[in-house]
Amino acid sequence: MNKAKIAKQKSKKTVRPGPAFLLRRARQALRYAYAPYSGFYVGAAVLNKKGRVYPGSNIENASYPLCLCAERVALAHAYMSDPKSPILAIAVLCRNPKIMLAEPGFPCGACRQVISEFEDKQKAPIQIIVGTEEGKIKVFESIKLLLPFSFNSEFLK
Ligand SMILES: [Zn+2]
Repeated sequence: MNKAKIAKQKSKKTVRPGPAFLLRRARQALRYAYAPYSGFYVGAAVLNKKGRVYPGSNIENASYPLCLCAERVALAHAYMSDPKSPILAIAVLCRNPKIMLAEPGFPCGACRQVISEFEDKQKAPIQIIVGTEEGKIKVFESIKLLLPFSFNSEFLK
């Protein structure tokens, strides 16, 4: 193999964005949060296998049960943009303008269930990354660590 071919192959290899990068993208998504009722802002960023990142933010509604979580907005964004590319990771970052959060906010139960469905569907784990604006980061290699014994399609057969 000649040098040009080797260089071309090397350039095709992309480095997978790490947790800190994805949390920065989640933080950027905070600017789109629509949270006039709770005043609590959530940003999420989903990484797919092609290396693309899809942001999401929480979107509230005066009819409270209709509020959308940032995680599910980002997952829908990623899935609708590229349904065939498996999801590798999701990062979540919260902001409460009244206090600096010392600990990361975690996905709610509903979002854990939705992430679990995607994991089952693609038969590959999704890394869960949560962090604070001050730089604390926690990483879980699968949603099953945050939602053991989840409800799934096996029960509906
Ligand atoms: Zn949620």
